[in-house]
Amino acid sequence: MEPEVLENYRKAGRILEEVLRDASPRVQVGASLLEMAEFVEDSIRSKGAEPAFPCNISLDRAAAHYTPSPRDTSRFGENMVKLDVGVHVDGYVADAAVTVDLGGHPDLVEASEAALEAALELIGPGVRTGEIGSAIEKAIMGYGYKPVSNLTGHGLQRYEAHAEPAMPNRAMEKGVILKPGDVVAIEPFATNGSGRISEAPTTEIYGFSMQRPVRLPQARVLMKEIAERYKTLPFARRWLKGERVEYALQQLLRAGAVHRYPVLWEVEGALVSQAEATVVILDEGIEIITRQG
Ligand code: MN
Ligand code: MN
Repeated sequence: MEPEVLENYRKAGRILEEVLRDASPRVQVGASLLEMAEFVEDSIRSKGAEPAFPCNISLDRAAAHYTPSPRDTSRFGENMVKLDVGVHVDGYVADAAVTVDLGGHPDLVEASEAALEAALELIGPGVRTGEIGSAIEKAIMGYGYKPVSNLTGHGLQRYEAHAEPAMPNRAMEKGVILKPGDVVAIEPFATNGSGRISEAPTTEIYGFSMQRPVRLPQARVLMKEIAERYKTLPFARRWLKGERVEYALQQLLRAGAVHRYPVLWEVEGALVSQAEATVVILDEGIEIITRQG
């Protein structure tokens, strides 16, 4: 990996680590979700980087992809809170998450944390992703829980928050062999339910797909802004400003210029915990860029 590229990854990882450390203690019963998301995103910007995607705050059965709506009034209760944060420096993305348990299920949180540790012990150049998935599954099963089998970690590419290779959370025959230069986010999810997630009816996060012809002038303006500002990185409905912006977004969705990232939730309504770190694979060994402190 080019030294300047590695430096950008390190900077993104360092900022993410600081922001998560500052934000986690603010997750308390009664605190506002909207203020939490804005605190995280403003902190990233004030440290000289950009959010790689909206601050995800997913509660209880929701595993991923919730971010507060534009005028969100919700507050934390006795929830299992997944705080999932992305930071990019010049397009180089770091991605990490922690679970803050306000509801009294510490062993479920420990299960995903132990699975992440097991994966980090194993990962390196020449290691097969299926072996890592197997270690994750084994660690979570050891706590008497199930991994969410249809949610995976992923590779990271410049301006791409979800790239190849997929990093499975269960044992699998195939998978790919990791090589120097790969950057991957490992993210085990543990649940006391069935171990499957599906799409919920709510969407607050979107991503640019491609330029498409649209008639509404506000939709054309919005498409240009999104493509320039976020490129192919996800953005929040909350981030969009301007006249008739909701209507313009609907037009872009209909035209295929923008796609949705619906909230993903556990099919049985069971609790889900998550832990995540980003790893750079080097010629020899690895660097966990979201754990430098
Ligand atoms: Mn993440
Ligand atoms: Mn991720």
